[in-house]
Amino acid sequence: MIEINRYGEIVQMMMGREMDGSVLYWTAAYLVDGLLIDTGCAYTADELAEYIGGQQVNVVVNTHHHEDHIGANYIFQKQGLPLYAHPLALPLINKRLPLREYQEMVWGYPEPTQALPVPETIVTENYTFRVLETPGHSSDHISLFEPEQGWCFSGDLFVSENQKMLRADEDIAGIIASLEKLLTLPVEELTLFTSIGRVFTEGKSVLRRYLDYLDELRGQVHRLAGENLPPAEIRDRIFGRETQLAALTGGHFSVLNLVEQLTGLAEGSS
Ligand SMILES: [Zn+2]
Repeated sequence: MIEINRYGEIVQMMMGREMDGSVLYWTAAYLVDGLLIDTGCAYTADELAEYIGGQQVNVVVNTHHHEDHIGANYIFQKQGLPLYAHPLALPLINKRLPLREYQEMVWGYPEPTQALPVPETIVTENYTFRVLETPGHSSDHISLFEPEQGWCFSGDLFVSENQKMLRADEDIAGIIASLEKLLTLPVEELTLFTSIGRVFTEGKSVLRRYLDYLDELRGQVHRLAGENLPPAEIRDRIFGRETQLAALTGGHFSVLNLVEQLTGLAEGSS
């Protein structure tokens, strides 16, 4: 399924596999001034190509290699469009990505494509996008920043002000450093366009709230860890219980992952 939202001249394409009348997980791609940022998952590739249809696309950039961001790359590559991603993403995008069972069910296998190393800036007809390295969610994660407009396309770096789960392979210290990097961008406010589909006109305020939340949570986790409680017990004391997603993803997404990462996070890191 694909749904279209507009934010001025920015088009947001929300995409996700539909099963039994509901979408399993929405991922957003964005089209602005001929720049396509991410391409959704394999299951929605044809719908995206059909929607894009006659619209002008000159260049495609992936924020990172995850399967819900590169699924329609091959269609645009066949059209001869340049395809860019962080150098660390290239070996993953350019061959068949290994997926867990739940990832195959929700997003499917993207067809491999020959992406190129993303340049430092992407210049479109009317805008110049700075490419920022923002690792943490994945080591190859980038964000795109347009300084004149204050737009920031932040991929999966930020999901929610009170995020309760983490992927097993996410790096919370990296996420915090990348969020702080966005806060130093030379604009008073950022309009944040996230891959989960949420758009914030007061992006810096939202990121500050998230960092404050993580700092508070780190303090709570460290206090309980100081009482020699194991991570699962700390999780239950703070959050009540594990999320159902932990079982569905074999622990790939879980509250426990967040607690374990915060346990190892030094004071003053957030
Ligand atoms: Zn991701």
